Amino acid sequence: MLQLITILNRCHRFPGFVYHQARFGSDRKSIEIAVRPRKGSRAVCSRCHQPAPGYDQLAERRFEFIPFWGFLVFLLYSMRRVDCRRCEAVVVEEVPWADGKRTLTRAYMLFLARWARKLSWKETAEAFRTSWEKVFDAVEYVVTFGLEHRVLGQIDAIGVDEIQYAKGHKYLTLVYQIDLGVTRLLWVGRERTIESFQGFFTMIGDEIASRIVFVCSDMWKPYLTVIREKCSEALHILDRFHIVANLNKALDEVRAGESRRIAFEGRIPVLKKSRWLLLKRGDNLKTEQRFRLRDLLRYNLKTVRAYLLKEAFQQLWDYNSATWAGKFLDEWCRQVMRSRIEPMKKIARSLRDHRELILNYFRAQKLLSSGVVEGLNNKAKITMRKSYGFRTFRCLELALYHSLGKLPEPESVAVGMPVTQHPPHRSPRAALPHEALILDA
Ligand SMILES: [Zn+2]
Repeated sequence: MLQLITILNRCHRFPGFVYHQARFGSDRKSIEIAVRPRKGSRAVCSRCHQPAPGYDQLAERRFEFIPFWGFLVFLLYSMRRVDCRRCEAVVVEEVPWADGKRTLTRAYMLFLARWARKLSWKETAEAFRTSWEKVFDAVEYVVTFGLEHRVLGQIDAIGVDEIQYAKGHKYLTLVYQIDLGVTRLLWVGRERTIESFQGFFTMIGDEIASRIVFVCSDMWKPYLTVIREKCSEALHILDRFHIVANLNKALDEVRAGESRRIAFEGRIPVLKKSRWLLLKRGDNLKTEQRFRLRDLLRYNLKTVRAYLLKEAFQQLWDYNSATWAGKFLDEWCRQVMRSRIEPMKKIARSLRDHRELILNYFRAQKLLSSGVVEGLNNKAKITMRKSYGFRTFRCLELALYHSLGKLPEPESVAVGMPVTQHPPHRSPRAALPHEALILDA
């Protein structure tokens, strides 16, 4: 016969405490497990973390534990208070399964937080019959722990990116580590100002900042300013992904403008539904789309000329040498400046202004994993979509650190015990035969 307490002792054992009794709650929908101090063990002061003489005992509290086969599970425990000489005060004891005033056990918070990485917070709350606020608490606990315990170490390369999270120009500044071996989110800043990016450098300190070798960014001026000031020794690279994104934006502006003009003049709306045909890379189009694109390209339109310029630009990325890439870039910009297509000319002017930073891409190419900022940017967007409906800065900050920060996790068992990292979809407890569970009713 296998008892619930035996299982708990196997996976969540707390030194100094014993599981005393397990029984159904009065609603028969929950399981309550009484916890007692082990005989002779002394309570630990929660302020100085040292054992201290007992003072008194408080009323029984309920701590929510990982739900079990459809039952809510609670640990019941009467906290002791200690008369701590070190702290010269009467202090509530420290217990290994929970921290501070939270009613969720650490194990349950870790459990919820792991699921909240796969599901949205709302879905996580629904799946485990808990509230959105508790999932928020769980993620906050895990992320706070992770940020306090992460090791920054040496950082060779960083990428800075802005991301819009709400209407009305609400942006976040994200800083990633993009070393060949390590990619992770390092920093989430409010807004996309000089101050928000400087916050990152304050966090890592001058020592680490001075050893950064590569910085990737877009052409956003406040970022360029901070990079010049804080990483003057690093090779600053304008990221390919951002340049292509800007080109696409310009092309889309040309198309939208011309499309409106055609409609206004009452001509055949040849540009209707052409947006994705033009923005997608040619080799990503399906056969039918390719025919439609070929049709479209026969028209003498500004959009078509802008499209051809954009496509021609892609050749830049095939160069290995910065010199040849530079020659190509200059020639491309010359062509565009003659095109009389204003949005494209604006891009060309900006590329000319940032010529050296663009060519740094070729100088560093072999040493950076390309496309990594784009990949992280996509993941950040997916994370934001998942937490949709709760777009406050704090929520997004937590969600982004949680899914992209690669933060260390708190141990799910008592301090000093080996860490067992069970992925949430493969719970070893589920492998136990049903008959084996006998509860003390
Ligand atoms: Zn103390």
